[in-house]
Amino acid sequence: VSSGDVPIDALLAELGHTSQESRRAARRAIEAAGLTNPRKRNIAAEKREAVAEALAERLVRTCGSERCERATGRDRRPRALVERRACEVCGGSGNAASVARMVEAMRAAGRTRLLVVGGSPNAHAELRLLLDGSDLDLRAVDGTAALPQKRALAWAEWADVIAVWGGTMLTHKVSSHFPAPAYRSKRLTAMHRGVAGLADAVVQHLDGGRAG
Ligand SMILES: [Zn+2]
Repeated sequence: VSSGDVPIDALLAELGHTSQESRRAARRAIEAAGLTNPRKRNIAAEKREAVAEALAERLVRTCGSERCERATGRDRRPRALVERRACEVCGGSGNAASVARMVEAMRAAGRTRLLVVGGSPNAHAELRLLLDGSDLDLRAVDGTAALPQKRALAWAEWADVIAVWGGTMLTHKVSSHFPAPAYRSKRLTAMHRGVAGLADAVVQHLDGGRAG
């Protein structure tokens, strides 16, 4: 074992795959990605990011809660149960409470049309689920799909709040449709993965707007 190596099991556990079954699914995914092979016990520490990326790309990784299962129900990739902090839908946070606060803050501000730019389809599904029955209108733009400029402009004009979801699947090509200076008063960037992080950032933006 060279000093730059870590046990694969330990790395997978750190990334949320703590049960044996979950570790097995993760192991298959990183082998399929060519990052290791069935004989190896250790992996170079600098492959950590590549391993995390391969897992996010190849597996549906949820905490197993009913809500997170529902949000990913149509995702056909193999599934693995992970620790709540690693869940791709909730990230271990109370999404429902944060979204409820966001709905309240937007309603109070008289701004009910929310445009979300970026984020995974699973995260969008979760957000839709939580907004169901509220009077908020949501449009969500896939951060990696090609978006016609004309539609981007129409949606930006439509929105009362534009939340750009950083740290998620979001290409510059998509985010550049919604430039910061043009939409300063209604645009914000959320830096946290997970729906709660996005909702909290919207609330913070609205608070800042009122204070200023
Ligand atoms: Zn979850």
